[in-house]
Amino acid sequence: MKKKILVLGCTGSIGRQTLDIIRKMDSRFEVCGLSAGSNEEKVAELCSEFNCPGTVFSRDGIEGLEALIKNSGADIAVNGIAGAAGLKPSIFVLESGIDLALANKETVVMAWVLVKETAKKHNANIIPVDSEHSAIFNLTEKIGIENISELIITASGGPFRTLSDDELEKVSVEDALKHPTWSMGQKITIDSATLANKGLEVIEACRLFDFPPEHVSVVVHPQSLIHSLVRTKDGILYAQISNPDMRHPIFGALAWPENSQNYLEKFDLSACGEMTFSPPRFSSFPLLKTAFDCAKKGASYTIAFNAANEAAVQAFLDKKCGFMDISRIVISTLSLDWSFQAASIDEILEADRKARLEAERQLSMLPGGIH
Ligand code: NAD
Ligand code: MG
Repeated sequence: MKKKILVLGCTGSIGRQTLDIIRKMDSRFEVCGLSAGSNEEKVAELCSEFNCPGTVFSRDGIEGLEALIKNSGADIAVNGIAGAAGLKPSIFVLESGIDLALANKETVVMAWVLVKETAKKHNANIIPVDSEHSAIFNLTEKIGIENISELIITASGGPFRTLSDDELEKVSVEDALKHPTWSMGQKITIDSATLANKGLEVIEACRLFDFPPEHVSVVVHPQSLIHSLVRTKDGILYAQISNPDMRHPIFGALAWPENSQNYLEKFDLSACGEMTFSPPRFSSFPLLKTAFDCAKKGASYTIAFNAANEAAVQAFLDKKCGFMDISRIVISTLSLDWSFQAASIDEILEADRKARLEAERQLSMLPGGIH
């Protein structure tokens, strides 16, 4: 029996790479539904290529997406939707008892308690696709989470790893969109340059693996060959190594719980050159420390972190603020009180809306900012 796969965000970086795996491994996997934000022509093409019964676009509204998910008959859904828009689809997947291959880290950052409870209630599994969390997930499955004392998340450091603080103030959108090791959607590429992505991933790791932030750390590893490490209680480190190719974690999630052969190029240790490691520059990339603080404070802080960052990144992409304004906007938005608990989906989305409004208000006060 082929595994039936629902691909949410099928035109994006994660979506396209998922379809590449299904295309090349069509004796094991088949597409049972596709969704995308836009680009109907491309989706129509994919629909006919994969002989897919159902498609949905953002313009069909969230009800359209809910119906697609609930009627899909999928064994597993890949959520490759960008940003907070991915949260409700994740909930619909889990409510349908469908396993969730989760690339959309915002789902975890915004609503982990709700998401975890929904998965439990409907007997659905959440399999991380973010490469760092996929690495840790694989390591915990092999080593046993009870034997692990620390999670170490690797970061490429982004394209501006070595720039001075003055140079960082002046970087352009075009420069920020050139990621050294990964080819990804625009939002996550900017987040990789500010280290907000690593911040989101710290929060994601604390929640997925139920680790306090004090036992999670980040190391800069520009070659992106080690995808993360765990330290066992006896002090030993275990790393997961592969080529920097998102199809590895996507395949791992699609095939889970099996660990089986695939067509992806195997990593050649003797040809890889050097691997280097250094601590992150917390003072030049302040959003990483901010994310650790939000992970410690909990409540609605992580929702506000994500929402303010999404608003500020959009403003930067629209050339309405500078690169370093992104962190200033997020940090000043977080100076409001976010200590209230947002438990239901409506409360979570209300906190998200409130943070976006505040970030937009702050953006409008920048010299030459949004009006
Ligand atoms: P992307 O921008 O390339 O693609 C996003 C997809 O979501 C597109 O298909 C788009 O049409 C769809 N979409 C956008 N807005 C939507 C909306 N409002 N409703 C429904 N669909 C919508 O993004 P990406 O790089 O593939 O990233 C997707 C998610 O995966 C993000 O949460 C990102 O953080 C995470 N992720 C991506 C990578 C990567 O290598 N690209 C790695 C790790 C995690
Ligand atoms: Mg990642």
